[in-house]
Amino acid sequence: MKIKISNGGEKMSFIVAIDGPAGSGKGTVAKLIGERLNLTNIDTGAMFRCIALQMQRENVKLEDEEKIKEILDKSNIELKTNKGILKVYLNGEDVSTAIRTEEVSNFVSPVSTIKIVREKLLMLQRKIAETQDVVMEGRDIGTAVFPNANVKIFLVASIEERAKRRMKQLQEKEAQQREELMRAHSELYTLQQQHRALLTAHQMSGGNEADRLKAKEQLTRIIAQVTRAMEALKQ
Ligand code: C5P
Repeated sequence: MKIKISNGGEKMSFIVAIDGPAGSGKGTVAKLIGERLNLTNIDTGAMFRCIALQMQRENVKLEDEEKIKEILDKSNIELKTNKGILKVYLNGEDVSTAIRTEEVSNFVSPVSTIKIVREKLLMLQRKIAETQDVVMEGRDIGTAVFPNANVKIFLVASIEERAKRRMKQLQEKEAQQREELMRAHSELYTLQQQHRALLTAHQMSGGNEADRLKAKEQLTRIIAQVTRAMEALKQ
């Protein structure tokens, strides 16, 4: 991919921003777009997970800003794709599995709200995109990290899928069904609220909505959109 020269004469890479909540399929879409269009796929969630993992390993509390800063300073996070599989390295160690445990999944959400963590990872994400064309997925890539991304996508299609999966799991666990169903409804409600807020922010920043489409249609549409943006740059 050629580089785009912005108004200020500064060199910029080609950036596709894919945002959406957990379970929206953004990981799959980003992976496929990266493969088809030869863009480096950056999973920003994995970066937050690395910090959460290291904090757990060192038993660092959420309010211990000093220790968190130390971790941020010494953590070297690398994302490498090998034969289509994304591998995540933290200080040279392959943590691809370790960052997906339930403990890390539960801990990463509060970790991701810590200001210094967000600032540091945002800086890293921008740095990665300085030298290569990327498809970057996360929550705020099109709004906060790259408001001027060449293409911005917001995926929300699978709220229903996620709810269905959750309900199915619960049906299998007959015992605490009633109580858990109520919790699932409340989770779904919270999710929908979050989606609405994210979507509004995304639309306000000029992004497109790729909602209510089947995964395959969605992907075809996104690839066409990215290809058009790439073609437009060449002209
Ligand atoms: O996408 P994934 O579930 O791996 O992300 C892990 C967590 O990192 C999310 O639950 C969210 O709290 C946080 N995150 C974020 N901003 C991003 C990507 C992820 O706050 N750009």
